[in-house]
Amino acid sequence: MRHAINALTEELRRLKASGVGRVSASEGGLAALRKAAGRRPADGPVPAPAAAAAPTVSLPEGDKESRWRALRQQVLDDPVCRSKVRPGKKVVLGVGSLDAAIMFIGEAPGGEEEIQGEPFVGPAGQLLNRMIGGMGVSRADVYIGNIMNWRPDLPVGLDGVQTGNRPPTEAEMAHCLPYIRAQMEIVNPRVLVALGATAAKGLLGFRAFGALGEVRGHWHDYGGRPLMVTYHPSYILRNPTNRTKRLIWEDLLKVMERVSLPISDKQRGFFL
Ligand code: URA
Repeated sequence: MRHAINALTEELRRLKASGVGRVSASEGGLAALRKAAGRRPADGPVPAPAAAAAPTVSLPEGDKESRWRALRQQVLDDPVCRSKVRPGKKVVLGVGSLDAAIMFIGEAPGGEEEIQGEPFVGPAGQLLNRMIGGMGVSRADVYIGNIMNWRPDLPVGLDGVQTGNRPPTEAEMAHCLPYIRAQMEIVNPRVLVALGATAAKGLLGFRAFGALGEVRGHWHDYGGRPLMVTYHPSYILRNPTNRTKRLIWEDLLKVMERVSLPISDKQRGFFL
């Protein structure tokens, strides 16, 4: 039941982020949810995140590689990050080219990412790779990070495994924000691309907008860098229609134009 509720919560959150304001539910379904919500999860309630001061990042002088390595070590050593990952799981920093023109910023590591210690290596990552390929570049040419460095926790099942994901809280994002900002400073990309509402809120402000539709497809400014907001790949995984693919693709065409990537007629016509 807990797995089903986690999956339902995740889906409702995504729908809300994509602009859906209401969903219908049967009386029976609501009664079952009320009953389940009254139960104590197998491993107790999720503890409230400790209020901790955001970390101060001081990057050393030197080339990009050594600065990135120093940052990585700081994130791996961060006591808050360390306390948030379960035994055997990993804190996750961004990956990719330190000379990338495009930096993608996602939400938070999921199950695969916290195992491998790399962002976007699960199903959403496979799709992101294909989207990047459609732009005529490869994953190794761009930089991919997350607004969060750990997987936001949910109660684990009896098997000790966390199945669902939840969006990070404002406090959790505030803790990790200096780290994605430091990655921007090191890589110095020409454009930022926020994938989904959580990443966009992490950058633009937790209360900067209601539905993703209000901000996606437009250029914003983030610390003097152009920021494009688009859908998260997992939105496409849940809604794999040409319409949704085209919407995200139009945003990516704008990104390609902004960084002067060549665009063929074929690319312009994807998903039409
Ligand atoms: N979704 C994200 O937003 N980031 C990841 O790293 C994986 C899935």
